[in-house]
Amino acid sequence: MKYQSFIGLEVHIHLLTRTKVFCSCRSAFGDEPNTNVCPVCLGYPGVLPALNIEAMRMGCMVAKSLHCRIPEKTWFERKQYFYPDMTKNYQISQFASPLGQEGWVELEGKGIRKKIRIKECHLEEDAGKMIHTGTASLLDYNRAGVSLLEIVTEPDMETGEEAELFIQQLRRTVRYLGVCDGNMEEGSLRADANVSINLSGKGLGRKVEIKNLNSSRFVKLGLNYEIQRQGELLDQGKTVVQETRLWNENRDETAPMRTKENAQDYRYFPEPDLPVFSPDAAFLKSVDDALVELPLGRVKRLMADYGLTEEQADLICEEKAQADYYEAAVRDAAAQGLEHRDAAGRVANWLLTDIKHILYRDGISPAELGAFKLTPQRLASLLALIAKGAVSGKNGKQTMEAVLAEDKDPEAIVRERGWEQISNPAQIAEVVHAVSGSEAASLAEARDAAAQGNAKRVSTLTAYLVGKVLAATGGRADPKVVGEQIRALLQKG
Ligand code: ADP
Ligand code: MG
Ligand code: ZN
Repeated sequence: MKYQSFIGLEVHIHLLTRTKVFCSCRSAFGDEPNTNVCPVCLGYPGVLPALNIEAMRMGCMVAKSLHCRIPEKTWFERKQYFYPDMTKNYQISQFASPLGQEGWVELEGKGIRKKIRIKECHLEEDAGKMIHTGTASLLDYNRAGVSLLEIVTEPDMETGEEAELFIQQLRRTVRYLGVCDGNMEEGSLRADANVSINLSGKGLGRKVEIKNLNSSRFVKLGLNYEIQRQGELLDQGKTVVQETRLWNENRDETAPMRTKENAQDYRYFPEPDLPVFSPDAAFLKSVDDALVELPLGRVKRLMADYGLTEEQADLICEEKAQADYYEAAVRDAAAQGLEHRDAAGRVANWLLTDIKHILYRDGISPAELGAFKLTPQRLASLLALIAKGAVSGKNGKQTMEAVLAEDKDPEAIVRERGWEQISNPAQIAEVVHAVSGSEAASLAEARDAAAQGNAKRVSTLTAYLVGKVLAATGGRADPKVVGEQIRALLQKG
C-alpha cells in the first residue's frame, strides 16, 4: 500500500443520570422545550455548579471497562468559546487530568482483530439544542448541562470498517453497563471521526475531522470517502486542507464546514467553583461493584461453555437482557434434567427462531426479555416436556403461544388443553388392544398380507390401524410407539 491511513474517534455519550451533571434539573430527552432548566444550567452569573457523583461514577465505570487508569486527582476546566447554545460562554469540561487515562480495547469481529489505545475519557456538560426553522433559530436548553462523557481514541484505526466496529462495540459496552441507552438517532451516542493519510512509514498526515456522525454506518462511509478523497489529492501532488467536514447522507460525500488551520485556543483554565475530585476507596469500590461482564468476553464464554457458534453467541449477546435470559433458561432446563449441552442447543434454537419471531411480531425489544411472559423458567419447563416426549413438537409451539396469551405455566396449559403426549407403552397397548377388537377384520387381512409377503398391502393396513389408535386418543398417542406395537401385533399372527 502506497498510503497509510490513521483514524481516531471522539465519541460522546449521554450518561443515564436522572439529573444533569452540575445541577438538579431533570435529564430527559423529548420533554417540552425549556422546561428542565434552572439558573445553573442557563448560565446565570454568580451561580454555583455542584458535581453529580452518579455522573462521575458512570464515567469511571466506562473508563475502567476501557482499561483506563483513574488518576488520584481529577478536576474540571472551563473551555471557552462563544455559541448561542451555550449561555455561559464556556463549557465545563476536563482537560489536564480527565477521569480516565491511557486505556485500550480489543477490537474483534468481522475478520478484524486489533488493539486500539484509548487516550482518555472525560466528563463534561452538553450544550443546548439549536433548531433552525428557516426564518429563525430556536433554542432549547433542556439538553444544556446534561452529563456527557467523551471517549477519545488514539489514531490506531485504519479503515471505516474498523471505526464502525469500534462504535458498535462501544455502544454495546455502555448499554451492558447501563450508563447510556446508545440511541444514535436521538443523539445519545454521537461520534466525531478524525482521519489522515500519509505515505507509508511517514507517520500521521494532516487530519480532517468529520463532525457529528449519528450512525455507525455513516462513520464507516464518511471515513472511507475521506480516505479515497485524500488519496486522490496526494496523487495529484496537492495537500490536504486541515479542516472540519460534515457527512452529507443524501449525496454520500463529505463537505467542508470550517477550516481548522491552527488549533482553536479555548484558553482552558481550572474551574474555580468545583473542587478537585479525589476518588476514595469507597468510591472506587462502588465503581468496581457496578461493573459487569463485557459483551466481547461474554461471547467468548458462551462459545466455550455452551458450544455455540460465534454467530449464535454474538446474536444472543447483542443485548445483555437476552444473554441473561439465555443463561437462565439453560440453567433451569438443566435443573429439570436436560443434559447441559442439549439444553444449551435447544434454548439457543428457540431463542433465535421462534422467540425472536414472536418478539418481532409483538413489538417487544430483546432488551425487555426480563419481563417476558415466557420466563426462562417456563421455556425450560416447555423444553423439558418436549425432550421427555410429554408434548409433541407441534403442540410445544401451541403451548408457547398459550403461555404468552394466558400468562400460565406450560404444564398447566398442556394439562388444561389435554395436550400431553401419551408415550407410556402400557397405556398405548390398552388402546391398541381395543382397536384390534373393533378392527378385527382389517387386522386379520393385514396378518394374511404379512404371511404372503405383500409389503404394500401391509403398509397400507398398518397406517390405517395406527390412524385408528391415534384417533382413539385424540391425537395424543406417540405415533412412533403406536406403529411399533401394531407391527409387533402383525408378526404375532
Ligand atoms: P484536537 O486537539 O484537534 O482535538 P486531539 O489531539 O485532541 O486533536 O485528537 C483528537 C482526535 O483526533 C483523537 O481521536 C486523535 O486520535 C485523532 N488524531 C489526532 N491527530 C490525528 C491525525 N494526524 N490523523 C488522524 N487522527 C488524528
Ligand atoms: Mg480534542
Ligand atoms: Zn439546571
